[in-house]
Amino acid sequence: MAYSRERKRARRGLVVALVVLVWLLITAALILLVDGRTVRFYIYGEDDMTVEYGSAFQDPGVYAVTVGNLFGESEKHLPVQSLGTVDTRRLGVYILRYTARYAFEDHSIERRVSVVDTTPPVIELKHIAGYEPSWMTGYAEEGYVAYDAVDGDLTGKVRRVKLDDRVQYTVTDTNGNTTVVERELPNISYQPPKITVLGDRDLVMQATLWYEDPGALVTDGLGNDLSDYLQVEGSVTPWFAGDYTITYSVTSELGETIRDERHVTVVPVPGPETVTPAEKTIYLTFDDGPGPYTGRLLDVLDRYGAKATFFVTAQDPRYFDEIGRAFRAGHAIGVHTGSHDYNQIYASELAFFEDFYNMEEIIRQQTGEYTRLFRFPGGSSNTVSNFNPGIMSRLTRAMTDLGYRYFDWNVYSGDAGDTTKATQVAKNIKDGCAQQKVSVVLQHDIKSFSVDAVESVLIWGRENGYSFKALQLDSPGMHHGVNN
Ligand code: ZN
Repeated sequence: MAYSRERKRARRGLVVALVVLVWLLITAALILLVDGRTVRFYIYGEDDMTVEYGSAFQDPGVYAVTVGNLFGESEKHLPVQSLGTVDTRRLGVYILRYTARYAFEDHSIERRVSVVDTTPPVIELKHIAGYEPSWMTGYAEEGYVAYDAVDGDLTGKVRRVKLDDRVQYTVTDTNGNTTVVERELPNISYQPPKITVLGDRDLVMQATLWYEDPGALVTDGLGNDLSDYLQVEGSVTPWFAGDYTITYSVTSELGETIRDERHVTVVPVPGPETVTPAEKTIYLTFDDGPGPYTGRLLDVLDRYGAKATFFVTAQDPRYFDEIGRAFRAGHAIGVHTGSHDYNQIYASELAFFEDFYNMEEIIRQQTGEYTRLFRFPGGSSNTVSNFNPGIMSRLTRAMTDLGYRYFDWNVYSGDAGDTTKATQVAKNIKDGCAQQKVSVVLQHDIKSFSVDAVESVLIWGRENGYSFKALQLDSPGMHHGVNN
């Protein structure tokens, strides 16, 4: 029976142990339930951080513990894993996430990090050693650069404002940060520049076709050439006698002006006073040649010892030799026109001069000298030039100032359309000349019938006491009224 008592005791002990074990498990479960243990994070620094662009960022970190209702916080720090990075070279908001694992569960917390730009740009002013402002430009910028950590080079965005005694430079970066710097201007104690008028300050010259102003030089107080800044006002019309003023000036950037002047006096080329012949005189004049009949005309004039005047053109180069022949025979040669094209000749003063001097050159080739006698195509009273208002008024004045003498006529032969009969031409001339002591007769030696009329006129003139002369500078011009 001892055996069975021992077995009974052992069974009782096992039951007691089981009961105790179950009680312990229940108690432990109750404790855990009531304790409600979880994870708590402690964050170093702010959970919403702001850091400057480009700064070195160090995560301040966190630590984590478990915490329960009954036993409070644990001593032991839980391992924490952190996720996310902050790039301070890029503006924006970054999230850092910290995670701890406890009781098969992840617990986490976040931190916001804002990377911002609150640093204004930098403006660096340059200084040139020994620099002095000048009268011309005032203060000339010595230079500057502007840069910003975020935007880089901002030199081109700098606003520069010139104030009385300083210059202000302002620049703003893309994040609205503004920098203002100022430069004190050096004391400005320069001498004003000097204008040197080249050549005569009071220039007197005879009327001519070309005037080239000798100009002026400008130097500043330091001897620098400022001639590029010279402004020239006024001009000389060298073919009109008169007083002209040329003004030279230099104006600084600050609006200060210095000036000097040249006075140009254009005087007429001197010529003799008109002398009206005392005796009965006929000036036969022939326009528009030389031509095929000019030689015949010269023969007739020679035979009677009469002198005439030829206002020549360049229309038929085959007969240019007749110009020289007439000249050597003692006749007067005057310019009529090179082209005889009214629209071309009267287009402008310069166009007239060009045509005129073309003819002058031909005359010089044939005679060895230039002439100062001429007749306007169409006469000075012409209206064919009306397309250019006032041109005849200007040309009669200019050509006279230039020393030329123009001749119109007071006897018209009628050979330019009124008749084609030599007898009628001769009658017209005789009738016209009979009414006055001194006559200038207009004929055209490119018209055969007009040349044919000449011998009859010469005979009539000799019988009636007239002498036939070539025009000279002092002969009566028989000027018509200018109509344009
Ligand atoms: Zn003509």
